[in-house]
Amino acid sequence: MSEEVKKEERSLNFLEEIIEEDLKNGRYKSIVTRFPPEPNGYLHMGHATSICLNFGLSKKYGGYTNLRFDDTNPTTEEIEYVESIKDDIRWLGFEWKNEHYASDYFDQLYEYAVTLIKKGLAYVDDSTSEEIAAMKGTPTEPGKNSPYRDRSVEENLNLFERMKSGEFPDGTHTLRAKIDMAHTNMLMRDPVLYRIKHAHHHQTGDKWCIYPMYDFAHGQSDSIEQVTHSICTLEFVPHRELYDWLIEKLEIYPSHQYEFARRNLSYTVMSKRKLLQLVTERHVAGWDDPRMPTISAMRRRGYTPDSIREFCDRVGIAKRENLTDVGLLEFCVREHLNKIALRRMVVFDPLKVVITNYTAGEETVVSENNPEDPDGGSREIPFSNELYIEREDFMENPPKKFFRLAPGKMVRLKSAYIVQCNEVIKDMEGNITELRCTYIPESRSHNDTSGINVKGTLHWVSVKHAATAEVRLYDRLFKVEDPGSEEGDFKDYINPESLQVVKAVYAEPSLKSAKFDERYQFLRKGYFTLDKDSSASGMVFNRTVTLKDSWKPLASKG
Ligand code: ATP
Ligand code: MG
Repeated sequence: MSEEVKKEERSLNFLEEIIEEDLKNGRYKSIVTRFPPEPNGYLHMGHATSICLNFGLSKKYGGYTNLRFDDTNPTTEEIEYVESIKDDIRWLGFEWKNEHYASDYFDQLYEYAVTLIKKGLAYVDDSTSEEIAAMKGTPTEPGKNSPYRDRSVEENLNLFERMKSGEFPDGTHTLRAKIDMAHTNMLMRDPVLYRIKHAHHHQTGDKWCIYPMYDFAHGQSDSIEQVTHSICTLEFVPHRELYDWLIEKLEIYPSHQYEFARRNLSYTVMSKRKLLQLVTERHVAGWDDPRMPTISAMRRRGYTPDSIREFCDRVGIAKRENLTDVGLLEFCVREHLNKIALRRMVVFDPLKVVITNYTAGEETVVSENNPEDPDGGSREIPFSNELYIEREDFMENPPKKFFRLAPGKMVRLKSAYIVQCNEVIKDMEGNITELRCTYIPESRSHNDTSGINVKGTLHWVSVKHAATAEVRLYDRLFKVEDPGSEEGDFKDYINPESLQVVKAVYAEPSLKSAKFDERYQFLRKGYFTLDKDSSASGMVFNRTVTLKDSWKPLASKG
């Protein structure tokens, strides 16, 4: 209910306004969008924005979204990426209507090219790519017509056919649209539509040795699928004129292109090319290293699809590029995890506490799994006369407002008893090795008749029942807000302290049965999830996010 209200209050973004207008005018009865990844890398947070936008719009306005792999460039694409892209979209909570490959349309695209030739709107050019570039002109000067521009339709059909049949080597011929070499939009100066590339393709094998350029594939694929709103990022604004020209001249279904600003996140980079460098040069352990901005990394780290969708929804979309604060994403993650995470006690840096008057040996106490969730249930935790608390929760000479443990002071042990520190044991070097305490038997949680009020509550584990685990604490992968725009190589700005591993922490025994799909709040420590590196010989937990936003720039940043 409150969710609904929140959604209602958000004003329409410019695409929603356009779509509502189109539906009101009867221009369309329902809408069709598509998500068109190039399978040359793993999806990142920018793609998540595009996914939430495309699938979100078709869901909201009653329509559907196609998944279309833009596989027109046969050298960079790999099957592994196709599978990971599908996994990521499903994990985000969306399902496509049809799965397509731009390469499915190669026959149709070839026919479209023939149509253009027959209309006198395309020609085969024997110029090299250097010659074509040299004749292109500049934004202030017109280009020059190619000497091959006025070939007859018959000659063009013949040459194009021979390009297709493999007669010519790479780079010797192209098919170009015949538009206007003096056009103010440089992309309209007889753009290349097809190039020769003798390369094996992961879908079509060796069938083709000519491949369509992006501009001759994308709009036509949209049109074949009857996509109503083809949404892309701002760098495609200048392409729109060519998009419309091709659809008009081919007299095919009029899809329309709309552009929005790319999502950029602070303290990371978001181009597949850069992410690939981080992986291949081993700055990170892989595409799903939890410090990466990829969807697979965020999943492994413990982010929830709900929180990523909420983030995309809150930030909305813009018409001008900006840098989105990664703190907002972390806020959304925290907000969702607070609702669903199971509370558990884990001591990172143990200090032993011996309760000298506890004669029972051991008992179990009961603690809620999640105070935010009335149906969350509770669990039993073993309590005994030997416990670990966090070393930083004790001070021998505390300042005034220190409400944790100190000589003579009392604290509550979460869900158990109030204890008082009576004696501090040290080794030969003066290091504190143990605290001797007494407990107040009447102070048991849920049944406290002691009448004593204490300010501090500490987490703890029973020494002999504790499970050990490794935890991995992550910080931002880069030291600066926008590493891509800094001088020099973006990799010079990698944060050397982005990963801190604590080899052994002490966990309450219920965590021995931790599951991959469960989220945990380690009390006072942050949100955690089991990492895939866990095995029978040891559990590994990732810190998804801290409990509060306590992040500060590194000193070196000034
Ligand atoms: P990259 O620059 O990371 O390689 P790309 O644009 O080449 O990204 P594609 O696989 O071609 O990646 O993109 C698939 C879809 O995702 C496109 O519609 C593209 O506009 C969108 N997209 C990619 N990056 C972002 C981003 N940072 N913000 C919003 N949308 C994005
Ligand atoms: Mg691309």
